[in-house]
Amino acid sequence: MQETMHSLGSQAKEHTASSEQWMLSLVVPVMNEEDNIAPFLEAVFSALEHKVPALEVLFVDDGSKDTTLERLKAAADRDKRIRYLSFSRNFGKEVAMTAGIEHARGEAVVPIDVDLQHPPEVILEFVHYWQEEGYDMVYGVRHEDNGETAAKKTTSGLFYRLFNRVAHTEIPPSAGDFRLLDRKVVEAMKQLPERNRFMKGLYSWVGFRSIGVPYKQPVRLIGESRFNYWKLWNFALDGVVGFSTWPLRVWSYIGGAVALLAFFYILVIVTKTLLLGVDTPGYASVMSAVLFFGGMQMLSIGVLGEYVGRLFLEAKKRPLYIVAEQNTFAENVSTTTSAELSAQEGKDV
Ligand code: UDP
Ligand code: MG
Repeated sequence: MQETMHSLGSQAKEHTASSEQWMLSLVVPVMNEEDNIAPFLEAVFSALEHKVPALEVLFVDDGSKDTTLERLKAAADRDKRIRYLSFSRNFGKEVAMTAGIEHARGEAVVPIDVDLQHPPEVILEFVHYWQEEGYDMVYGVRHEDNGETAAKKTTSGLFYRLFNRVAHTEIPPSAGDFRLLDRKVVEAMKQLPERNRFMKGLYSWVGFRSIGVPYKQPVRLIGESRFNYWKLWNFALDGVVGFSTWPLRVWSYIGGAVALLAFFYILVIVTKTLLLGVDTPGYASVMSAVLFFGGMQMLSIGVLGEYVGRLFLEAKKRPLYIVAEQNTFAENVSTTTSAELSAQEGKDV
């Protein structure tokens, strides 16, 4: 831990990309993608060969049931730049990317889909912003016309709006997992031990100097999307509850409002009963009790929500902050100064 912080500090001083010798790691989660691997590798090498000093392509086989793993093994045997790790079962794309990012060795790490919906040429643009402009994270922003169905576009737009309204962390709309992460960002991501891994939220949470680069997303090369609506819904739910305690806490406010309205309504029915007499025996008292307890229960659920929400944030054990840069000499300077000071004080006395 201590060491990580030190290396973070020294890397921060001279931007990781400033040296000539650096490696680009592509992290590629794959699930049942046997026919996409060869075209993907071809596209990657033709776009990036000789354009970056060193390259590794790290596949994470997320419990494929077809011949994906055999093909990865064969590819890795042929070409040393290709590495793979294979899960014992399907753990989901977010976990596959987490594993890939953890095992990547490059100074720049780029998670990328295997279906060529993330054009490898765009990586050169990412590298430009990273190397020439000093950005620590460069994220791809899907272009409007990206071959997605209207329904998927609408639901995804709604999701980003809802997320950004309720979450503690803002995520840029239409930005996905396709992005370049500087080593500093990777080390910061590794400090997040939480098990619910909504990567888009985590990338934003760690911060750093970031910029978006628009790209046109073509339709999937071969096969169908591995995400159906049910999987997407659960993914969205993971995202919102992982980054927001709003659904727990909103009941305080709803409860408060209901209790207030109930209080006035109780006043109305009680006054009416007192002034005009009883039209249905028991109505006023039963109604008052129902409204009163209804309001109180919601309010207390909200109070519980406030505490559960805080427990939830604590349980994540995220670091309190991420240091992007620090002046590594500051400590020495201050010790010398205080030593000198005390020596002077000694003389004076
Ligand atoms: N993927 C994965 N595990 C899963 C689902 C998908 O590793 O459980 C991989 C998949 O092989 C692909 C990438 O994640 O490389 C994106 O998947 P897909 O193209 O199906 O998603 P979409 O483009 O619809 O978001
Ligand atoms: Mg895809």
